[in-house]
Amino acid sequence: MYHTLLEKQIKKHLNGTIPDNENIQKLLKAVNESYQNFERDKELSEHAFAISENEYSDINAKLREEIDIRKRSVTKLIDTIRSIEHSSDFKELSGHDLEQIVDYLKIQIEKRQEAEDEMRAAKEIAEKAAMARSEFLSMMSHEIRTPLNAVVGFTYLLLQGTYLPEQEEQLHLLKFSAENLLALINDILDFNKIESGKVSLEKTSFNLLKLINQAKNTNFTKAQDNGNNIRVMFDMQIPQVVMGDPLRIGQVITNLVSNAVKFTHNGIVIIEAMLLKQTADKVEIQFSVKDNGIGIAPENQKKIFEIFTQASDSTTRQYGGSGLGLAICNGLLEIMHSHISLESTMGKGSVFSFILEMPYSSEAEQNAINGEKAAATDPDLSGTRVLLVEDNNVNTLVATTFLKRWNTIVDTADNGKIALDKVKTNSYHIILMDLHMPEMNGYEACKLIMEIKPKLPIIALTASAMLNIRDKAFEVGMVDYVTKPFEPNELYEKIRKNRLPLNSPL
Ligand code: ADP
Repeated sequence: MYHTLLEKQIKKHLNGTIPDNENIQKLLKAVNESYQNFERDKELSEHAFAISENEYSDINAKLREEIDIRKRSVTKLIDTIRSIEHSSDFKELSGHDLEQIVDYLKIQIEKRQEAEDEMRAAKEIAEKAAMARSEFLSMMSHEIRTPLNAVVGFTYLLLQGTYLPEQEEQLHLLKFSAENLLALINDILDFNKIESGKVSLEKTSFNLLKLINQAKNTNFTKAQDNGNNIRVMFDMQIPQVVMGDPLRIGQVITNLVSNAVKFTHNGIVIIEAMLLKQTADKVEIQFSVKDNGIGIAPENQKKIFEIFTQASDSTTRQYGGSGLGLAICNGLLEIMHSHISLESTMGKGSVFSFILEMPYSSEAEQNAINGEKAAATDPDLSGTRVLLVEDNNVNTLVATTFLKRWNTIVDTADNGKIALDKVKTNSYHIILMDLHMPEMNGYEACKLIMEIKPKLPIIALTASAMLNIRDKAFEVGMVDYVTKPFEPNELYEKIRKNRLPLNSPL
C-alpha cells in the first residue's frame, strides 16, 4: 500500500501498474516512505503546536497570577519597611523594583550592624568606667574612713572625759562635722551601690518597734536642738518580730525622720506604723513620717526625689544636706518593691509614707524575745577574751578603749600572721579582724584560723563599706562585719551576739 498521493501519481504517470524493475520499485518505496514521514511529521507538528498553545495560555495565566502576587508582596514589603523605617532614603524608593529594595535592605542591615557594634563598644566603655568609679569610691572610702575613724572615736572619748568648759562647744562642733562628713561619704557610697545594682537585701527577723525607736533616738538630739518633739505611734496589732532587712528599712525611716526634724522648728514629728493587712505569714504595714514644719511647694514635690536636688537653693545654706537622702530612700524602697508617697502643704507640714509587705513567724518572734532577755541580763562583756587584729595604731587604740570599757580582756595582733600564732597558743571568745594588713591579710588569716579552730567566730572590721568586700569576708568564713568608724553600740551588739559562750571550753 502506497501513500494516497503516490498512488495518484502512479495512476497518472504509470497507468496504475508498477513496472517489474527492481530499481523503480526501490525508488517508489523510498518516495512512499518520505510521503509517510512527511505525513507523520506534519501530524506531530500540528499536534505539538496544539499542545504548546494550551500550555502557553495556561502558563500565561499563571504568570499573570504570579506577577500579581509578586506586586502585592512587594507593595506589602514596602509598606512594612515604611512602617518600621522612617528614613527619608526609603521614601524616595519608587515602584516595585525588588532589586532596589534588596539593595536598600542590605545597606540598612549594614548600617544597623555598624550602629550595634558602636553601641556594644560604648557599653563596654561605660561598664569599664562604672567599674573604675566603683573601685575609686571603694579606695577613697577606705582612705577617708580610716582617719575619720580616729576623729569620730576620739571626739566621742574626749566628750566623755574632762575638758575645759569653753572646749565643749568646739568638741560638739567637731563631732557634728565628722559625723556629717561620714554621713556624706556613706550617702555617696550607698547611692553608688544602688545605682550599680549592688544592693542585696538581707532577710532576717528583727523587732520593728525597736528599729523605729532607734530611728527616733538617732534623731533625738537634733530634734531637741530645733525644739521638736518626736512621737512614735506603733499599731500594737503588728507582730513584734517581722522579717526583712532592718539595716535598710532603718536607713529609710531614719532618713525621713532626720529630714522631718531638720525642716521643722518647735513642732512635732510623728513616726507611725500601721497594720494594713495580715495573713498567716505576711503583714502589710504602712510607715509614715509626719511633721508640721515648713512644707514643700507643689512644684518641688517631684523634684526633691532626684539626686542632689533640694526644694530651694537656700536649703543647703540654711539646713545643710546634699540632696541625696530621698533619692537613696526611693532607691532602697524600689528594691523592696515599694515607693514613697508625699503629701505636703507649704507652711503646714509634710507626710512621707510607704508600704512594705513583710513576712513574719511566731518562732522567730520567740527566738528574738529570748535573745533580748539574754541581752538584758548581760549588761557588759565581762570575761570575754577578744583578739583584735589591726595594723593601724590609731584604730587599735580607739577599738581597745571601747573594748576595755566593756570589760573585755583584749589581746592585739598587728597582722594576720601574728594573729595566727596567737590563736595557736591562746584562747579567745571572738576575733575582730581588719582585712587589709601587711604580711598576711585578714582573709588569708581567717582561712588558716578556721582550719585550727573552726568554731572561733571572726568579725571583719574594716574601713571599706563596699559590698563585695563584705561578701568576700563571709565567703572565707567570717560571721559578721563592722564598718569603721564603728558605731560603738553596733560593735558591742555584734560581739555579744557572736562570741563563744563564756562557759564553753576554749
Ligand atoms: P537633703 O536633706 O540632704 O538636702 P534629701 O534628698 O533628703 O536631701 O531632701 C531633698 C530636699 O527635700 C531637701 O533639701 C528639702 O528641700 C526637701 N525636704 C525633704 N524632707 C522635707 C521635709 N520633711 N520638710 C520640708 N522639706 C523637705
